[in-house]
Amino acid sequence: VCMAASCQSSGAQPVYDALTAAGEATADAPGRKCRIKGVGCMGLCSAGPLVAVAGPEDGLNESVIYRDVTPDDAGEILTSAVDPKASPVARLHCPSDLPFFARQQRVVLEHSGIIDPNSFRGYVVVGGYSAMVRALTEMTPTDVIAEITTSGLRGRGGGGYPTGLKWSTVAKTPAEQKYVICNADEGDPGAFMDRAILESDPHRVLEGMAIAAYAIGANKGFVYVRAEYPLAVERLKTAIRKAKRSGFLGNHICDTEFNFDIEIRLGAGAFVCGEETALMASIEGGRGQPRPRPPYPAESGLWGHPTLINNVETFANIAPIIREGGDWFAAMGTERSKGTKVFALAGTIVNTGLIEVPMGTTLRDIIEVIGGGIPGGKAFKAVQTGGPSGGCVPEAHLDVAVDYDSLKTLGTMMGSGGMIVMDETASMVDVARYFMEFCMSESCGKCVPCRTGTWQMHSLLDRIARSRASRSDLTLLEELCEVVQATSLCGLGQTAPNPVLSTLRYFRDEYEQKLTTPS
Ligand code: SF4
Repeated sequence: VCMAASCQSSGAQPVYDALTAAGEATADAPGRKCRIKGVGCMGLCSAGPLVAVAGPEDGLNESVIYRDVTPDDAGEILTSAVDPKASPVARLHCPSDLPFFARQQRVVLEHSGIIDPNSFRGYVVVGGYSAMVRALTEMTPTDVIAEITTSGLRGRGGGGYPTGLKWSTVAKTPAEQKYVICNADEGDPGAFMDRAILESDPHRVLEGMAIAAYAIGANKGFVYVRAEYPLAVERLKTAIRKAKRSGFLGNHICDTEFNFDIEIRLGAGAFVCGEETALMASIEGGRGQPRPRPPYPAESGLWGHPTLINNVETFANIAPIIREGGDWFAAMGTERSKGTKVFALAGTIVNTGLIEVPMGTTLRDIIEVIGGGIPGGKAFKAVQTGGPSGGCVPEAHLDVAVDYDSLKTLGTMMGSGGMIVMDETASMVDVARYFMEFCMSESCGKCVPCRTGTWQMHSLLDRIARSRASRSDLTLLEELCEVVQATSLCGLGQTAPNPVLSTLRYFRDEYEQKLTTPS
């Protein structure tokens, strides 16, 4: 039973309880034996609560998946599961060869929806911590960094900085004390990749952090996670406790000289704390505000010590790279963007949820094939990628291959993986106003261009949206976009104009129609 937050919000707990009760009632019945297990996210959140009937070795694609399950369906599902000759319950059956499942390539999500995230043993049984043992006992720190460099992995938080290069910079910086930080302060509207990974496979992230710590010479790590993710926090706490108890965190890990401990720090909901210098200030107990760089965290980070910061999905890629090799990873994806990417599909799309595809998959494949297209017979209008730092892509560019570089040529970015799909009824001026309001509210106020610029841009967008703006207002909006982009201190302000610029680029007529002095 999927027990991630999405399915829990649609009633997974009563389904789990009903299946458990039905299982106890039929324990002595002839046929196959069933164990009811809570697992992480299966991906198809719009069809929850989801239940999969699987053999011990089965992945999601070999399972019988049921959708929209209610507690009343428990007996029927169980009867069908224990009888090897029975057919799946037709009215609930969600074929696992649907493009939503069949077209994915699951590396980060390989165990998501299959293992119990609260079970240490469940993770070990599927090969968990074997990559860490291999790194500690068979590889030098230099070997580990070389393998990550060979893989071509780039930071999945949105920046796309080469992970091997970042690790090697911190490793080469001499210091008695170094830190590893996992940035789990996911804040883009519509994005829930990191939450789902932490809720579904938390040990995987801890293992990636421990391998990183070994590679760069750190003995202390922090996971900085949003307090608004209580289930992810709870599962992380459980995972850290069990990893320590089993000797996979703490002192003399795997009987080596390597010591590594991890603590959780809760973010209080400020979007800007996802920016690495603000995040470190917050961990240190200060106000979460960015500072100018250099110095970069690799040289002077937490409390002035060299610090490695990667996001959740980046760390979740580390164990398979060490296990299967950097060349294996580099064979997936495109020339400059290797591997796979997890995306969160939201908005007006049939299949909302979590997917993982090779880098280079087209937006059209993601939206029309895997996502199932637009519901209700409406036409597609745009997809917003990259959150408040990104932009909107119209139908004419849906055949673009999604990677770090190609979306930038369209005036947007891949970002951390949030995708909000909009149908023909969406107003693009309203979309731009929404994202500007978000940036205005989340601006930390440290620098003038962002503090006052986002306020002014929002007020101009509001006037345009209410058809009370003149042509000179639109000109002023465009000038402000340039100034705020060029002069803000951190990424929040520098990218706040992007949704405006991209909607102006592709949907300028919608702005023009609302002006009081049309051309
Ligand atoms: Fe703060 Fe905005 Fe300046 Fe960043 S750009 S430091 S969020 S005011």
